[in-house]
Amino acid sequence: MKQIIKELQKLNIAVKENEPLANHTTFQIGGPAKVYLEAKSPTELLEILKIIKQRGLKYIMIGGGSNLLVSDAGYDGAVIKTNPGELLIENNLITADAGCTLAGLIMKTLDLGLTGLEFAAGVPGTVGGAIKGNAGTYGEAMDKAVKTVDFINDNLEIETCTGQQCNFAYRHSIFKEHDSWLIVSAVLQLTTGDLAASRKLIDERLAYRTTSQPHGYPSAGCTFKNIAYTETIAENLKKLNWELSPKFKEYQKIPASWVIEKLDLKGKTIGKAQIAEKHANYIINLGGAKADDVIRLIGYIKQQVRDKTGIQLEEEVRYVGF
Ligand SMILES: Cc1cc2nc3c(=O)[nH]c(=O)nc-3n(C[C@H](O)[C@H](O)[C@H](O)COP(=O)(O)OP(=O)(O)OC[C@H]3O[C@@H](n4cnc5c(N)ncnc54)[C@H](O)[C@@H]3O)c2cc1C
Repeated sequence: MKQIIKELQKLNIAVKENEPLANHTTFQIGGPAKVYLEAKSPTELLEILKIIKQRGLKYIMIGGGSNLLVSDAGYDGAVIKTNPGELLIENNLITADAGCTLAGLIMKTLDLGLTGLEFAAGVPGTVGGAIKGNAGTYGEAMDKAVKTVDFINDNLEIETCTGQQCNFAYRHSIFKEHDSWLIVSAVLQLTTGDLAASRKLIDERLAYRTTSQPHGYPSAGCTFKNIAYTETIAENLKKLNWELSPKFKEYQKIPASWVIEKLDLKGKTIGKAQIAEKHANYIINLGGAKADDVIRLIGYIKQQVRDKTGIQLEEEVRYVGF
């Protein structure tokens, strides 16, 4: 370890040892990363990766840490954080570094008269994290805007793939199939639509989020993915005398929050982790929660949902260090 740190320091990279990852996740949970560093540019990232890979140290990249549950034991490898990157704007094409925040991206592009990112309003985190998880809201997500993505492949080369090659699906992309690929930047294609309507929609959505989501408590957003609608699942839920909204069939998704709420699980607390009263798909950190509390609560919810409805919930939150 000392050798890796020396080599990284020779490149003038500020390296921290045993950095608590609770400081870098919105859940404010997580033990130490063996090595923690920030990459200032793709070239620097490549240099870092060369050293780390040569020495056989495992690594992950993080952005805003807003979709992560890090174990109490931390991560036995290198955690590389994307640096807040730059935006290059040419007509309606935006080249965004992976570390750009979605919030910054929306503000900047609206100022330039560009629309099309309304689905990202209120989603925390960075462009890199959002592409990996195809983040979004209201049935739209990053796949709507991504034209190409530049990433570092397993041979430490920068490769470009098109939006279509990203295999985007609901909360999925090819980068979840290849966890070692690191997103460097992306070209997003926006439109010159109705700017006033776009701003209004964004404001409405932000206002709705402040009333419908548990603010003031650390979390990682929605814990579980929404459930793919099937007639069998719908029939099973009707047998429980649950009234299904026609929207579930229309959007082919049953909200995980609705199922958890129907089972009366809101407020369930394990240690310092709690199913939020405001939104049943959020687990909140009441202060000093351990990853272990959250894991046990996730297990409890999954078991209750499976036993009572036959539905197998799937986590949206990403595990690190387990
Ligand atoms: C309050 C709150 C509300 C939320 N609301 C929503 C919502 O409405 N819709 C939604 O989709 N999500 C939502 N989320 C979840 C989260 O904000 C998104 O998943 C977001 O896109 C994650 O981005 P990030 O930069 O924080 O990624 P991180 O959490 O840092 O990382 C997520 C994953 O991406 C990987 N990763 C990050 N950067 C890179 C990179 N450059 N290259 C390769 N891999 C990378 C990480 O290793 C990890 O596997 C919410 C979260 C919170 C806390």
